[in-house]
Amino acid sequence: MNIKVTNLSYSYNNGKSFAIKDVSTEIFDGEFVSIVGHTGSGKSTFIQNLNALLVPTNGTVTVDEFTIENKLKIKNIKQLRKKIGIVFQFPEYQLFEETIEKDILFGPKNFLMNKEELEGLASKVLNVVGLDDSFLQKSPFELSGGEKRRVAIAGILAFDPEVLIVDEPTAGLDPISANNMMELFKKLNEMGKTIILVTHNMDHVLQYSDRVLVFKDATLHKNARPIDLFNDFDA
Ligand code: ADP
Ligand code: MG
Repeated sequence: MNIKVTNLSYSYNNGKSFAIKDVSTEIFDGEFVSIVGHTGSGKSTFIQNLNALLVPTNGTVTVDEFTIENKLKIKNIKQLRKKIGIVFQFPEYQLFEETIEKDILFGPKNFLMNKEELEGLASKVLNVVGLDDSFLQKSPFELSGGEKRRVAIAGILAFDPEVLIVDEPTAGLDPISANNMMELFKKLNEMGKTIILVTHNMDHVLQYSDRVLVFKDATLHKNARPIDLFNDFDA
């Protein structure tokens, strides 16, 4: 599934200022794309436009048969959100159910997955993120920071999106946990998922991604292979 972004702009204040301005790019099926840029450069705004959590002020996002555009009624928005799963910055604040199992099954139930599909699902995705079944009945509040983030990722993986977007997932983690998490994204990418990673970690960009988008002052400043970007750095 490819995502095509054409002249995308987004304003939080009716056009007084723009959080992203005139961004055009394409993200191809199976790619591992990193997004970098200073805080406030528009990274989080950009990714939320990809599955219509935010609707473009100007421009268009096309995902398969879905067209996202201002004033256009988007058909089957649930299906779109099931295809493109976003793990937010600090997803640990979004865990709210009594048990981890319930938290993980929240998305799948919302997307109306049936009983057979839900059977064993929480256990399976916990396993994928490196947590065992003993976590199923725990409260999210009993977990460490890194574990909470893994559970939040499991909750998105549970509805099996084709594209996984992760917004600064390793921020604040110790280096070993961060590397484990990057290896998880690598594995998911090898299994066929498109990965879009927002990060400040240039080592991760270089080591894991096929391509990097650099945001600067609300615009897409560069779109390059990581190696080319680093070779180009002093230019
Ligand atoms: P990044 O993720 O790169 O740090 P953001 O997309 O969060 O950047 O922010 C881009 C710009 O939009 C910033 O100027 C930020 O203050 C503004 N912004 C972000 N979220 C909101 C919001 N919910 N309401 C108003 N302005 C926002
Ligand atoms: Mg952000």
